[in-house]
Amino acid sequence: MRHWFAAALAAAMLFGASPRATASPAFEAMLRQAEAVRSADPQQFNALLGELNASVGSASQRQRDELAYLKAYQLSYSGRFDLGIEAARELFDRSEDASVRFRAAALMVNSLAVTRDFAQGVRYMNEMLALIDQIEDPELRHHGWAAAGTISNFVGRHEDGQRFAELMLADQPNPRTACFAGALLLESLFGQRKLADRPDFMAGQIDRCIAAGEPVMTNYARAYQARVMSWHGDRNEAAALLLRHLPEIEATRYPSLIGFVYSTLAEIAFSGGDYAQADNFARRSIAQASGMGNSAALVAAHRVLYEVALQRGDNAAALAHHINFAAADKAYLDEVSARALAYQQVMAETREKEQAIELLNRENQLLQLREQASSLSARNNQLLLALLAVMLGALGVWTWRTRRSQQLFRRLAETDALTGIPNRLSFSRRAEEALTLSQRNQEEVGLVMFDLDEFKSINDRFGHATGDWVLREVARACSEVCRRHDILGRLGGEEFAFLLVGCDLASSVALAQACRKRIAAIDTSGTGQAFTVTASFGVAGTRACGHDFLTLLSRADDALYQAKHAGRDRVRTHGAGDLALDAAATN
Ligand code: GH3
Ligand code: MG
Ligand code: MG
Repeated sequence: MRHWFAAALAAAMLFGASPRATASPAFEAMLRQAEAVRSADPQQFNALLGELNASVGSASQRQRDELAYLKAYQLSYSGRFDLGIEAARELFDRSEDASVRFRAAALMVNSLAVTRDFAQGVRYMNEMLALIDQIEDPELRHHGWAAAGTISNFVGRHEDGQRFAELMLADQPNPRTACFAGALLLESLFGQRKLADRPDFMAGQIDRCIAAGEPVMTNYARAYQARVMSWHGDRNEAAALLLRHLPEIEATRYPSLIGFVYSTLAEIAFSGGDYAQADNFARRSIAQASGMGNSAALVAAHRVLYEVALQRGDNAAALAHHINFAAADKAYLDEVSARALAYQQVMAETREKEQAIELLNRENQLLQLREQASSLSARNNQLLLALLAVMLGALGVWTWRTRRSQQLFRRLAETDALTGIPNRLSFSRRAEEALTLSQRNQEEVGLVMFDLDEFKSINDRFGHATGDWVLREVARACSEVCRRHDILGRLGGEEFAFLLVGCDLASSVALAQACRKRIAAIDTSGTGQAFTVTASFGVAGTRACGHDFLTLLSRADDALYQAKHAGRDRVRTHGAGDLALDAAATN
């Protein structure tokens, strides 16, 4: 997601509103010129800012505000983000002009994304969005949505990212904005594992960004397209698409893009069994991406190196790569969850603020009542006392609600909103803890992973709402099959897993079978449609794979892949070492 740093900033630099002139025409002309050259010619821009500063005496308040905005912009543009943010915040607090405040907030959102202060970024995103109804200039509006979409994706709110991208695309954007909006949409879909849902859009996106002369965005779209092609089994075509454009991609000198493309190539080569190429691409990806902080691409590249070493039987190298892979994965997940938490905290704060305002309003009403009451008889004093009691009660309720909403937000961050079971992050955490404990107690553990079969076609035939209903039913069915201490989670999309502490491979397979049958028995008549739901299962156990969570998950994933290939609606194991068991798994 890192690539949005620069993209967001570039967007901030490119977009610009042009409020109409009122006072001092000479000053206005200079302002317009500074607006026009600010991204293309920094030197002239700096010179113009100097001249504007010198003649600020003749400027109107609106012109001063605009100059203040350009100064804040210049600070961020030259990399002095802290100063730029401070100047923009000062302008935001001071100005009364909605569009000036909107631009200042958008500049802060972009800069705060770069400085990785996501909590503040989300705060100013809310402030900015509160002004959007007053913004008439479409380009300025798009700029705001781009900033909001970028920060939303950063904090894991990919549905919001998608919504902002779609708002931009539906608002007749100019070609360059359309390319940015499309890139935001693809990134949001990728984050939701829904990239394959929009094949036409993907092809159009490449053309859009070529037309806009944006090679970085064009090649992100190609990398996404290559991923989708390889998911559909067109590995050779996918690799060829990227290899053909490799010189152009390298020429962008854009490390996150280049790292992303090489990690994509590494994964494609690995799934095609070309281990030498996979190893080579993964190393190039790491060389590019490792200077850019934690990223999914870096995690994927380390994983490929580890898997390749394992396939080659080089256990020492596999161990070394696994250590890197686990460290990168943990660092990335920690960062992702810290960002998600920052979002939840800001939203909770916002709610608290709203509640405090509500309380103040009530206090005001109360004060008015008291004034009236004081002119009335002593009997009314009783009423006043009663009202004061009500106010105290309200204060108590408010404190209680605040505490409760904090707990609620913590729970929300760990729970999958659709099914109510733990999400991927909290599943991983709990599973890791359980595995550490059971390793200490020398207990066996089984990990079962499953993925619904042909689920896309359920969505296509009966609609998304029915698809959602199925996901909820599946989660419910499996919770009923699982024992009380088992850990069940939704890994994403239509993929689930459960961890069975104290279960050897055979018992884990038996539970997986029970769950499979239970899913196949789901009665769909309640939806008004008759269809069957099935799922494919992969099982891995600690006896063959050890107590490392990521290894177990990856083995279960391999077994699940085999179950899909063998015809779906079945259970496959990894490391059974016993054909009878694997045969039992198919029944
Ligand atoms: P396979 O048997 O190979 O797994 O085929 P599939 O159709 O299940 O797999 P594919 O990955 O092609 O499609 C998964 C679909 O799941 C695509 C996506 O739209 C859908 N999906 C993901 N998350 C949700 C969700 O939250 N709700 C609904 N209704 N659909 C979802
Ligand atoms: Mg599926
Ligand atoms: Mg799937």
